[in-house]
Amino acid sequence: MHAPWDFADFDDHELVHCVTDRQSGLKAIVAVHSTHLGPGAGGVRFWHYAAAGEALADALRLSRGMSFKNAMAGLPLGGGKAVILAREGRAKTPEMLGAFGRAVEGLGGRYVTAEDVGMTVADLVEISRHTRFVAGLPVAEGAVGGDPGPHTSYGVYLGVRAAVRRKLGRDSLAGLHIAIQGAGSVASGLARRAAADGARISVADIDRERARRLADEVGGATVDAGEIMTLEADVLSPNALGAILGEASIPALNVPIVAGGANNQLATAADGDRIHRRGILYAPDYVINAGGIINVSTEFLKDGDHDTVRRRIEAIPDRLDEIWSESEATGRNPAAVADDMAQRLIGRA
Ligand code: NAD
Repeated sequence: MHAPWDFADFDDHELVHCVTDRQSGLKAIVAVHSTHLGPGAGGVRFWHYAAAGEALADALRLSRGMSFKNAMAGLPLGGGKAVILAREGRAKTPEMLGAFGRAVEGLGGRYVTAEDVGMTVADLVEISRHTRFVAGLPVAEGAVGGDPGPHTSYGVYLGVRAAVRRKLGRDSLAGLHIAIQGAGSVASGLARRAAADGARISVADIDRERARRLADEVGGATVDAGEIMTLEADVLSPNALGAILGEASIPALNVPIVAGGANNQLATAADGDRIHRRGILYAPDYVINAGGIINVSTEFLKDGDHDTVRRRIEAIPDRLDEIWSESEATGRNPAAVADDMAQRLIGRA
């Protein structure tokens, strides 16, 4: 038998809440890692887990990640995450979402939910009938909120520029070759902005047609999904999957910079050292990809307008520079430095 405290991912989480609703069949876990800076905010995942222990491990790991991400984005939010344990058929009913909403409401604001894997905006709207503590709802034209993708993209673009300034000593992306993994929401915005600056774009997506459309739009080229990670370029920007930087892929990288929006790019903590030892400048993912959460937070807390969101996103390069400077001064890898900074910000140094 394992208690939450026994899990490798347990890190002094303030709250782990198990929810069961017999009528709707809902089974969910809410984990709040820290409320030091504000309510524990993070999305709810709807996923079929082979074992309940995997769901708990996910909630523990992801809620800690949200603490770090929100802290490093300078937001007055703590970190939380919820998982709904879907049955094999993954049936999702309004009753289930309602029961989940009531459970969130019952936590009195210590946890604020939002969209994550397996959930849609319509699901959030259903949840919002039962709790006030939900962000990422559809907003009126012109209001702050809505799709976080373009905001994430803007932050990633600024982060790529900051990395180029630091590593290559260049103020512009003009003439540089940017290899982009993924051709989705975050990747597209980056590709458009970088191409407008005069960068050459190579893009790969398992959806070849999607990659082709984006490449055509920005005057770039497509690359096979299997080749993008080894392409010779000035920047590799991962904007598709997690765990792509590992024991096998890092030695094969052919770039001086890795900076992209995908979550959890390092397969293990040791890979932070591995990429650093190769002399490749790495932008910690949860720092560079915070644009979306900055937008969601500003919507939920109602503490700013579009200019506020833009200003907050434009602080991402400064945060990255702070990390890289500390990394240079201490010899520690940027991912480890970012984790330490986040720990300090949430009062756990
Ligand atoms: P998206 O679904 O719009 O695009 C992802 C793209 O990656 C898809 O086109 C998909 O076909 C492609 N893809 C999947 N596997 C691939 C592979 N092996 N090789 C190449 N391409 C592959 O998603 P998005 O919103 O652009 O998010 C991209 C990444 O950024 C994800 O890791 C996401 O978690 C992260 N992220 C997104 C946001 C946001 O605001 N959208 C915020 C923070 C982090």
